[in-house]
Formats: sequence, C-alpha cells, structure tokens
Amino acid sequence: MRAVEAMTQQSQISALAQRDEPLSRHTTMKVGGPARWWAQPQSENELGAVLRAAKRDGLALQTLGAGSNLVAGDAGFEGVVLCLGSGFAWHRVQGHRLTAGGAMLLPKLTKLALQHRLGDFEWACGIPGSVGGSVWGNAGARGWNGETEKFESRDAGADLESLVAFDRSGERHELRRDDIEFAYRRSSLGELVVAEATFALKPLSETQANAHREAVKELLKIRRETQPVNAASAGCVWKNPRVEGCAGAGQLIERLGLKEMSVGGAQISAVHANFVVNTGGATGGDVRALMCQIEARVLQETGIQLEREVRLLD
Ligand SMILES: Cc1cc2nc3c(=O)[nH]c(=O)nc-3n(C[C@H](O)[C@H](O)[C@H](O)COP(=O)(O)OP(=O)(O)OC[C@H]3O[C@@H](n4cnc5c(N)ncnc54)[C@H](O)[C@@H]3O)c2cc1C
Repeated sequence: MRAVEAMTQQSQISALAQRDEPLSRHTTMKVGGPARWWAQPQSENELGAVLRAAKRDGLALQTLGAGSNLVAGDAGFEGVVLCLGSGFAWHRVQGHRLTAGGAMLLPKLTKLALQHRLGDFEWACGIPGSVGGSVWGNAGARGWNGETEKFESRDAGADLESLVAFDRSGERHELRRDDIEFAYRRSSLGELVVAEATFALKPLSETQANAHREAVKELLKIRRETQPVNAASAGCVWKNPRVEGCAGAGQLIERLGLKEMSVGGAQISAVHANFVVNTGGATGGDVRALMCQIEARVLQETGIQLEREVRLLD
C-alpha cells in the first residue's frame, strides 16, 4: 500500500514538472547539472499546485528566476527547481504604479516604465534578472536621480509598494513594503516565492522622461565599458566589503594581481575582477574552486573575508 501511495504522489509532481532538465540551460553562467524535476508554472493556480505537490512528496525545492545570480553544481539538484514561466512576464500600469509578474525581466521593465513616463527604475536597466529574483535579493545599482541630476545607488526595495508571494504550502500572501526588511542585496522574504510586485514610481513630464532615457543610455554605455556584459557570468561574485579604504571587491582582487586567474574554463574577468566568467566549457566545480581560491588568497593577504553575492544551487 505504501508503495502505491508513493507512486501516486510521485505521479502528481510528474504531471506538473519535467525530469532531468540541465540547469546550465537556465543560468547565465551556463553551468550546472540536471534538476531532477523542473517546474515552470504559468499561472498562480499552477504555482500553488507545484508547491503543494513538492511539499506532499517531501521534495526539496529551489526557486530560480533568470538564473543570473546563481552558480549551479555539476551534480544538479535532487528535488524540484521552480521557475516562473512566461505567464508571469506581464505588466500593468495604474497611475504611477507599475505592477509586474515575477518573471518579467528588469531591463524590459525599465523600458516600459519610461514608455509610461515613470522614473526611478533606471537602476535596473542593465541587470539581467527577473522581478521575483531581484526583489528577493534586493538587487541594486546606480540609477538616475532626476532631482539632483546625478547617478545614485538605488535598489529594488526602494520603490516597492507591495507584492504577492506564495509560501511552501502553496498559500497566497499579499505583503506591504513595511512587512519586509531590505538590506544590502538581501531581504527577509526567505522561502516565499514572489509572484508579482508593485512599484510606486515617479511621474515625469516628457522633458524629464527624455533626460531619464538619456541617463539609461549612459548607464548601459558605462556597463559595456566596465563589465564583461557579453560573457557568461553571474554578475558580481562578491559583495563589496564594508572596510575603510577598500573601494570594492573587484579592486581588492585586482590589486592582489589575481585578474585573469583561472581554474579550468572559469576565469576572473580581465574587464572587472569581481566577475568570474565562463570562457567556454567551465563546470560548476571550476567556478566554485576559483571562488574558493580567490577568497583564501584575499583572506590570507588582507585579512578580509569576502562575502558572496552569488548563490550556490545544489
Ligand atoms: C552581467 C550581469 C550584471 C549584473 N549586474 C547586477 C547589478 O548591477 N546589481 C545587482 O544587484 N545584480 C546584478 N547582477 C546579478 C543578478 O542579475 C541579480 O542579482 C538579479 O536580481 C538576480 O535575479 P534572477 O531572477 O536572475 O535570480 P536568480 O539568479 O534566478 O536567483 C537568485 C536568488 O533569488 C531567488 N529567486 C529567484 N526568483 C525568485 C522568486 N520569484 N521568488 C523568490 N525568490 C526567487 C533564488 O532562489 C535565488 O536564491 C548581474 C548579473 C549579470 C550576469
């Protein structure tokens, strides 16, 4: 009887997910073995069903967005990898509020905001992440402040007004900004899956919107000049250490002469030393080994323990 029950349970997740999907296809670093189960729900109903099935079957679950901040392991993931499907890549504008589904990509959302003459989302123009992953990890970068007419740091938590998230039991929750804590590249969202987010943005005149559009062009140009934007990577690997006299993790690594250090196909970028790039054929093991070697050298030579911005998936 037990065996029959187990088979019934197993067949429930198999109706909602496909087997053995390579994670290298879904991460911008292009590494990672297979997810035992790969689920791509297209609606809130399907999302709830996947979460309930994974829980019922006692399967581990990992959420993946655009895979742009993850280093997946070569053994893959022995459970369910949940990735919101294109059914979650929608948006809606109501006055100065911009609501987007969790799978919407940030660069597209920045464009849409400016089409509707809404400002303050320029920081997101060059971040290849999804709304869900970026709110969860409080992604941020330099954006444009139209009042001071300067480039200033901004993050996903800054203009967030509310969100819809699902817990591991498949229950739907509506959270206000005040229910969530945001800090440098992290939030208190924990195991919640972000299905949609609403940002309260700044209404702009056409003249102001043009200035914001010019700022986006400049921000993208700076990225192209200072980051390996066309290489396979997971963005900045380490958080910038909060240490006096240290401009950033990249500069620290560069000063130690570790630029272009490599393990297998993984290399510290020649363009920006806080990026590990896949030069072709890197494994998850190569990337992780390089990360560990860099962390050990930095600790040994400066006493600074680098903290990771990228997350490991396994
Ligand atoms: C070229 C390049 C440039 C980058 N520049 C920046 C930058 O300037 N600033 C910056 O902050 N980051 C940057 N990144 C890193 C990355 O794009 C961001 O961290 C982005 O927010 C990650 O979103 P994602 O959808 O790809 O999340 P993923 O990488 O898929 O996942 C990251 C984390 O979020 C969780 N997650 C994903 N989706 C959801 C969801 N729907 N609900 C709940 N949790 C979820 C995952 O479980 C995981 O723990 C860059 C990356 C690259 C490749």
